Amino acid sequence: MKYLSTRGGVAPVGFAEAVMMGLGTDGGLLLPATLPQVGPDTLGDWSDLSFQDLALELMAPFVADAIPRADLEGLIRRSYATFSHPEVTPLARVGDHWILELFHGPTAAFKDVALQFLGNVFEYLLARDGGRLNILGATSGDTGSAAIAGVRGKERIRILILHPAGRVSPIQERQMTTVLDANVHNLAIRGTFDDGQRIVKALFNDLDFKRRYHLGAINSINWARILAQIVYYFYAWGRLSRGDPEYRIGFAVPTGNFGDIFAGYMAKRMGLPIERLLIATNRNDILARFVAEGRYAAGAVQPTLSPAMDIQIASNFERYLYYLVGEDPAAVRALLAEMNRTGCLQVTAEQRAALADDFEARAVDDTRTLDQIRETYERHGYILDPHTAVGVQAARRHADRVCLATAHPAKFDEAVRQAIGASAPPPPCLRGLLEKETRCTRLDASEEAVREYIRATLTASNDHE
Ligand SMILES: *Cc1c(COP(=O)(O)O)cnc(C)c1O
Repeated sequence: MKYLSTRGGVAPVGFAEAVMMGLGTDGGLLLPATLPQVGPDTLGDWSDLSFQDLALELMAPFVADAIPRADLEGLIRRSYATFSHPEVTPLARVGDHWILELFHGPTAAFKDVALQFLGNVFEYLLARDGGRLNILGATSGDTGSAAIAGVRGKERIRILILHPAGRVSPIQERQMTTVLDANVHNLAIRGTFDDGQRIVKALFNDLDFKRRYHLGAINSINWARILAQIVYYFYAWGRLSRGDPEYRIGFAVPTGNFGDIFAGYMAKRMGLPIERLLIATNRNDILARFVAEGRYAAGAVQPTLSPAMDIQIASNFERYLYYLVGEDPAAVRALLAEMNRTGCLQVTAEQRAALADDFEARAVDDTRTLDQIRETYERHGYILDPHTAVGVQAARRHADRVCLATAHPAKFDEAVRQAIGASAPPPPCLRGLLEKETRCTRLDASEEAVREYIRATLTASNDHE
């Protein structure tokens, strides 16, 4: 299987190179050159596989000869052994809906499904092909812990995560700083999340420094993350269809960077019988407006009770755009240039029709999010986290929708308490965090302070080779 860039500027690369590249060297996003097709008979055959066995069948053609099948199977087993539920992503019936619980991983958020796998793939490829990887990232609190959990204790990998000191919730802070593995560096900077992002960006822009210290990003655009997320769409279908190839399934997806729902779109293109995918956003509704008007225009980010979805420019959107314009990199480049020039992009009437076939979208504000948490709890005794509640509220008129549950409610205790006046019982991974030992380095919010820290703690390539 070869991968190419949405912008057409990357010579076709194999799976291993695509994973190590992350973002395309031309600034575009990588996609498989062709999509394996899953016919009705195969769908039926796969419908009673375990999550891990299904993952192996689905991933094997994408990975092809980059990783032998037996090794891929080992990576998958190891990645999902850290989940606390035997089904990995179980379904729960809640009222008229199905809740697909994606939060049984080590940090109680759906990003674990992808990042546990990605961490193991990185370690495997670095051990086999040589090299090292120092992951540098900034977090506002929501995603840093899943990235850390994905690579803790792994050979040839270190991770440095900047978070704004005193500005992330106590649980989120402890989820990061209680990880004591020697390869994990938590940096609390005396500043804001924006300062952290600015610093990381500046260091990545210093290409010489980036190369010398093997710096890499762990963001939602890595193809391996999308690949891992395709699995649970097929898995949910298998559980509900009982192998009937005529069975059509509908999903509602709480959406921020468009990675999760794009995996659903890939599943559909591979042949899974999915109805129009429902994009659920909070007040940051750029995608909902795009589906309604065919015009993609960013506004200012507004803080909400579902912070992991407080995003205006969705980083995976370009992947969908590529398919929308007929897999034509020149057309993608033209639309992006328009976006750069005017702050918005407009698709044609024909593309709007295709868009409306693929997706519907609804934006949900904080009041309705809280109402949904309260209503689901009062009627069914089930506690939704605020992100999942956005999806359930968006799907309220669609019976039997599968609503993706992207975080455990105990992770967003403040919103849950506001809605129902009580806390959700924490899962094992969130228990006792406040009593655990922590390790964290405080730094000034300056590029120079972080650069100095990297020089002092990481080995530069020239010292070695
Ligand atoms: C990241 C995240 C989302 C959004 O997923 P995208 O792939 O960015 O669309 C939703 N809910 C939670 C809890 C998340 O952490």
